[in-house]
Amino acid sequence: MNETNLRKKTKKCPYCNNVISGRTDKVFCDDKCRNNFYYMVNNEQKTYIRKINGILLKNRGILRTVNPSGRMSVPKRYLEELEFDFGCFTGIHKTKRGRLYYLVYDQAFSFDENERVSLVVFYRDAKAVKG
Ligand SMILES: [Zn+2]
Repeated sequence: MNETNLRKKTKKCPYCNNVISGRTDKVFCDDKCRNNFYYMVNNEQKTYIRKINGILLKNRGILRTVNPSGRMSVPKRYLEELEFDFGCFTGIHKTKRGRLYYLVYDQAFSFDENERVSLVVFYRDAKAVKG
C-alpha cells in the first residue's frame, strides 16, 4: 500500500476530526460538519477583518486629532505613545521625488530624518501631496 492509499484510508473531517468513511471524494462527515466548518472559517475571517478595520480607524483618528491643520511634523515617538500602528495603512503614495507617503484613508504620514514624521491630509485624486 502506497502513501496515497494510506492517506485516503485515514482521511479526517476538517471540522470534527472523525475518520471519514464511504466515498473517497468526501471531505466532511456530513452537511452539518460542512456547514459548521464554513461558518467557523467565515467567522475567523470576519473577526480578523474587523480587527484590522479597528486598527485602521484608530490610526486615522490619531492622525486627524494630531494633525487638525492638515500639514505638520511630529516626533515619531509622539505617535508611538498614542499607540499608532505604523504597519497598518490603506495604501502607499510615491511622490515624483520618490518620497513615500503611507495612507490611512485620507490621512497620510511619511518618515522624516531625526525620528520625525510628516503628516498631511491626502485625497487620492486631488493630488494634495507634493514634493
Ligand atoms: Zn465531521
